[in-house]
Amino acid sequence: MKLTALAGGVGGAKLAHGLAQILPPEDLTVIVNTGDDFEHFGLSISPDLDTVCYTLAGLANPVAGWGRADETWNAMANLKRLGAPDWFNLGDSDLATHLERTRRLREGQTLSQITRDFCAAWGVRHTVLPMSDDPVRTMVDTVEYGELPFQEYFVKHRCEPRVRGFRFAGIESARPAPGVLEAIQEADALVICPSNPWVSIDPILSVLHPSSFIFHPLVVAVSPILGGRTVKGPAAKMFAELGIEPSALAVAEHYRGLLTGFVLDTVDAALAPALQRENVRTFITNTLMNSPADRRRLAQDVLNFIRSTPPNTEH
Ligand code: GDP
Repeated sequence: MKLTALAGGVGGAKLAHGLAQILPPEDLTVIVNTGDDFEHFGLSISPDLDTVCYTLAGLANPVAGWGRADETWNAMANLKRLGAPDWFNLGDSDLATHLERTRRLREGQTLSQITRDFCAAWGVRHTVLPMSDDPVRTMVDTVEYGELPFQEYFVKHRCEPRVRGFRFAGIESARPAPGVLEAIQEADALVICPSNPWVSIDPILSVLHPSSFIFHPLVVAVSPILGGRTVKGPAAKMFAELGIEPSALAVAEHYRGLLTGFVLDTVDAALAPALQRENVRTFITNTLMNSPADRRRLAQDVLNFIRSTPPNTEH
């Protein structure tokens, strides 16, 4: 079974890691959001791509879910001492990634070529693709500050400003990266990881639209909202601020028209009938991934669900 997964950072990386523990490298492609990418200290930083690659490589910080394990912070401490901006933490090992990516981009290499080489160097054997080689920048429209670049909203302002909407700057001219459309067409099923629908998955869907994605007959999403709350991050807060009650149902509604199946946490079992009435098949399981074993177990549940779900020929 060939799967293509759409992923943001932390939640996406965890399920991608579970799938990678089960599927052979040729059967899993992970397409990663690059709307969170930004430039800082003149460096090109791709937080979601790095989180997915570090996680698949076994290099990620297991507690934070982002950044590197066994990281040191000498560069950051010295930057602080010089009065440099310190709102975005860059570990020493992580800095090497950004330095080399920036150097290669300036030489004219593409983000997807660089990602492929980095994956080879880190021993990641499954395919990881940025959604696009063209820059797309998520802008968060807030009540307090107007439009903020994503990382300023997310890190500098700690997701506190109230959200009014989103804009993906550059999306009109951004094309899917090489291999992205093929990975979708050749997949037996697409998995939408439990990532933030607004700022992790929507940028990917926006790059793909109006191409073949919409017509894939087997699309399964895993809810990032459990019992009305996120495990981490602002997705539930975003739903609420946009006037939508945060719930797994709201996530499924967000992906309306795309979904064949939806994986709900056991705490949300009561929501299943509402989805079934909308012709979305449901699977109820423990979706919390606190350990690598949890990731593998959830990935196996997702695979079993996909195997038992007939493709939707009306898509
Ligand atoms: P980001 O780009 O780093 O914010 O990462 P993502 O968008 O990929 O992931 C954020 C989402 O992952 C949040 O909405 C979380 O609720 C969700 N998430 C994180 N860990 C888990 C987990 O163990 N299980 C589930 N179901 N969702 C999770």
